[in-house]
Amino acid sequence: EARKLQQLKHAKTETADRVEIELFANIELPEDAIQAVKLGAVGVGLFRSEFLFMDRKQALPDEEQQYQEYRRVVDLMHGLPVNIRTIDVGADKALGGGGDISQTGTSPLGLRAIRWSLTEPEIFLTQLRAILRASAHGQARIMIPMLAHAKEIDETFRLIEKAKQQLHQRGKAFNPNIQVGAMIEIPAAALVLPLFINRFDFLSIGTNDLIQYTLAIDRADHAVAHLYDPLHPAILNLLANIIEQAKRANVPVAVCGEMAGDPALTRLLLALGLTDFSMHFSQLLLVKREILQANVGLLKARVARVLRAYEPEEQAKALERLLS
Ligand code: PEP
Ligand code: MG
Repeated sequence: EARKLQQLKHAKTETADRVEIELFANIELPEDAIQAVKLGAVGVGLFRSEFLFMDRKQALPDEEQQYQEYRRVVDLMHGLPVNIRTIDVGADKALGGGGDISQTGTSPLGLRAIRWSLTEPEIFLTQLRAILRASAHGQARIMIPMLAHAKEIDETFRLIEKAKQQLHQRGKAFNPNIQVGAMIEIPAAALVLPLFINRFDFLSIGTNDLIQYTLAIDRADHAVAHLYDPLHPAILNLLANIIEQAKRANVPVAVCGEMAGDPALTRLLLALGLTDFSMHFSQLLLVKREILQANVGLLKARVARVLRAYEPEEQAKALERLLS
């Protein structure tokens, strides 16, 4: 059984009715990229860069140190895309650095991710320069977490331009056309998707946070953990909507939250039109096995009933029919 699964590494990732699917890896440390490649990932869909910054007693990594780490991933991926997500600290992820920089928010609604980066432009610029320098060696791409406001998008792009200018002045190599993507993980972003489609090269849906914010369930609060439900009809309809709009506009869209790595949800996500999945590398073959057996045409024809099922029993029946 385990050996059979291992053999899937070499199989082309397509559904039974020949729809091509792309499987990307989520990584936290540069060396995770070795496993990602071994297991057949076609890129790194999410490099959680904050792990280079957390739990540190020393100072935060400087531009050169970050560049070396990003470059390592880019080199290990041999020209495949690597989405380097800019620091996503705050809420459950505490920043290291021995207290030498300002505190992040501890509430999920507080100063975290891009909100924090924009209040610390020097730290943000340093990271952007390091990613840009890595882009001279392969397909490093910038991915921004937790965007909701047009002004945050403006400010982010202004700083990316500034980082490019700084490198240009220093005579450092980088890809001037580096791709920039946005995570869709706040309901407000999902509700104004055209704003994001017009300004970014790719989108990645962070379902972990999208569920948290849509259902108003703190991911870290055990008292409400039983209400954290990826199958809530609001979540499914939101996902269907985001994927459809992005596809119509021809902008690549992936899911990089835990949902993408849960083989029990693979066919449901295929039914919603998803073609790009990003997950912890340990899940890659399990999800791939589901994909190889799926018939997308049939799944899509049956998904409308799931999306309109608001009562749990009704939804269970529609899901059973979808997956039968
Ligand atoms: C997400 O929110 O789904 C996500 C992938 O990011 P993180 O879990 O790191 O917040
Ligand atoms: Mg997130």
